[in-house]
Amino acid sequence: MTRIFNDPADFADEALAGFCDAHSDLVRQVEGGAVRRSRPATPKVAVITGGGSGHYPAFAGIIGPGFADGAVVGNIFTSPSTQQAYSVAKAADSGAGVVLTYGNYAGDVMNFGMATERLNAEGIPAENVLVTDDIASAAPHEAEKRRGIAGDFVVFKVMGAAAEAGLDLASVVRVGRKANSLTKTIGTAFSGCTFPGADQPLFRLPEGQMGLGLGIHGEPGLFDTELPSAVELGQELVRRVLAETPESGSTRLAVILNGLGSTKHEELFVLWRTVAPLLREAGYTLVMPEVGELVTSLDMAGVSLTLTWLDDELEQYWTAPALTPAYRRGAVGFEVASAKDSGVDASAAAAVDYSATSESREYAAQCLSALDATADLLRDSEAKLGDMDAIAGDGDHGRGMVRGSAAALAAASVASERGAGAGSVLIAAGDAWADKAGGTSGVLWGAGLRAFGERLGDAETPTPVVLAESIRAFADRITSLGKAEIGDKTMVDALLPFASSLEALISAGTAPEDAWSAAAADAAKAAAATAELRPLKGRARPLAEKSIGTPDPGATSLAMVFAAVGPHFAAVPVTASNFATSN
Ligand code: ADP
Ligand code: MG
Repeated sequence: MTRIFNDPADFADEALAGFCDAHSDLVRQVEGGAVRRSRPATPKVAVITGGGSGHYPAFAGIIGPGFADGAVVGNIFTSPSTQQAYSVAKAADSGAGVVLTYGNYAGDVMNFGMATERLNAEGIPAENVLVTDDIASAAPHEAEKRRGIAGDFVVFKVMGAAAEAGLDLASVVRVGRKANSLTKTIGTAFSGCTFPGADQPLFRLPEGQMGLGLGIHGEPGLFDTELPSAVELGQELVRRVLAETPESGSTRLAVILNGLGSTKHEELFVLWRTVAPLLREAGYTLVMPEVGELVTSLDMAGVSLTLTWLDDELEQYWTAPALTPAYRRGAVGFEVASAKDSGVDASAAAAVDYSATSESREYAAQCLSALDATADLLRDSEAKLGDMDAIAGDGDHGRGMVRGSAAALAAASVASERGAGAGSVLIAAGDAWADKAGGTSGVLWGAGLRAFGERLGDAETPTPVVLAESIRAFADRITSLGKAEIGDKTMVDALLPFASSLEALISAGTAPEDAWSAAAADAAKAAAATAELRPLKGRARPLAEKSIGTPDPGATSLAMVFAAVGPHFAAVPVTASNFATSN
């Protein structure tokens, strides 16, 4: 239970602000997260970690000499936006390039990836290192699909130390990827975590049971089993991780026995009494093991075991000194350089001058009504969508859609008041949605709306054909970014049938309102049919079996929204010339 909060929606922001104040000797808050208080005297590679909130001390707690240069801090369990990642990277860059490193989750991959493109385009060399240590989340032959959990800590630590030692960008990336390939984790959950303001945990385990293969976003374990004794639990964890011993594995191990948030240190030490001797008996030397809370999941009860097979280079960086709010090792020569602000305020959007035709402005008002209806509908559906997402995902879909659609409506209203046409209104809406929603669906909805707006433009009179083409642009952007196909159990399963039906009906001459409602009915049918599918993309993939019987949350919300916005988007003028093929 999270008991200390004000407005639950402000929890992550307030926690970050409090953290930065409490540790103002080491960190400084910037747009999108935090960076080191002092800039390095000579340029060095900046190591930026990140992800959602709820994992303290990951990610902001490990900012400081010898470790991270900055952390991008998203909302609880949701990816930070592209804008946030870009802004933190700009603030932390000291002239030798930046490496963004994070656990392998679709939302993070897309947002950090887009931020990286933007940095490179501006001449700041940027690279990404993904952490994929969770052996429960995919089979060894699909190791690149695994998610990142407590192994994050080791990978970030060695990269931080390598950057501090003056290695160049390519070398820091090489060290990070090597550490990731030699790092394996298995976790177990004893009870789920509860979002601030929620009265129910994201999942429950029956008394006396544990879930093996937990995720760190409240995803339940892959399967439930009897809660064993501490000795049996230790044996099980060691056996499972050692089964993944890499071919090139050395006999020296970095070890993390990590508590997930409400498992006491004493319990971890009891478990360590089994884990350590077993590893030593297997012939390993344990190098600076960590028993404590390093990557948590709000107030979840659970534990994970991480092993990293160290070679000489990794051991040097694993044992190097570090000084951060949550983690200290050895003595660091504390460099108090000028606490010079980079002066970047990436959010300072220049006032935009809009020019639009009156037809486009009229349609912009309809777009605004569509966004209004969307925000209303999603507010009413937040709990339902969250519950659907909690079955195999992380339970944040409702919250993300509410945040995204509310931000989209607010930004669109501002643009419209300033005279924007339909295209610019939807572009403003899309950018705000992507920035504020968090999560995979937020990135995709945001990018899709932007593409919709780009196709519409601010000059053309929207006709049925333009409308169908704009929806196609929305769909194309989402599939090119998310790479999901029909049958992967994502929003694409509802989106593509919608776009195809709308195109076919409009080119056959059906009135746009009728075409839209028929297409929306097809989308609803397709969304319902996803109940039978196993998810092949996104956070629900590792728990595919649990998801069978429940429709995909993203497909469901998309079908609902498309049904609700028809009267606004589809009310476009029909003239004979509107049709590509008239009959
Ligand atoms: P997250 O998965 O990051 O927590 P949400 O819970 O908001 O984000 O959204 C989950 C939904 O996102 C899924 O139900 C699915 O419809 C959609 N989704 C996930 N991955 C993809 C993808 N690669 N392409 C398209 N849609 C996706
Ligand atoms: Mg989710």
